[in-house]
Amino acid sequence: MLKGWLVLKELLRGAAITARHFFVNMTFHTLNLFGVRTKRRGAVTIQYPEERKELSPRHRSLHRVLSREDGKPRCVACMLCVTVCPSECLSVEAAEDDDPEVQKYAARFVVDLNRCCFCGFCVEACPVDAIRMDTGEIRLTAEARAGLELPLEKR
Ligand code: SF4
Ligand code: SF4
Repeated sequence: MLKGWLVLKELLRGAAITARHFFVNMTFHTLNLFGVRTKRRGAVTIQYPEERKELSPRHRSLHRVLSREDGKPRCVACMLCVTVCPSECLSVEAAEDDDPEVQKYAARFVVDLNRCCFCGFCVEACPVDAIRMDTGEIRLTAEARAGLELPLEKR
């Protein structure tokens, strides 16, 4: 009997919370509809993934490695990003460049998203602005761990 009463009490409490959110949101939406400015806006349901919320320009999403004007990778394989990465999830394979001004380039650049914490240190550390995290890609899923080890030179 006591158990049944406790369940009923929690059910009623849950229904009261849902109703409160419903009426508060409806009030904000109605006020905004009539042009009344309010401190906060009513909650909006976004039909993800069909609809996508606009990301802030500062949002850190999937990395990309930039190219120079001649199409070669901008990365000079200095390993600063690899050194600074707290998750040790970057791997860069250096190769000799024919251009003596450049000397080295990244023949292979892989980020392991299984470990990346999206701190952005790699972007900050790069002396030639070769890596950025502004692709806006946040749907980073794979069926196996290996699928999240992404070669960035192909982007
Ligand atoms: S965002 Fe942070 S954790 Fe991810 S690769 Fe860059 S430095 Fe490493
Ligand atoms: S991305 Fe930048 S910091 Fe990382 S190895 Fe290339 S040049 Fe160096």
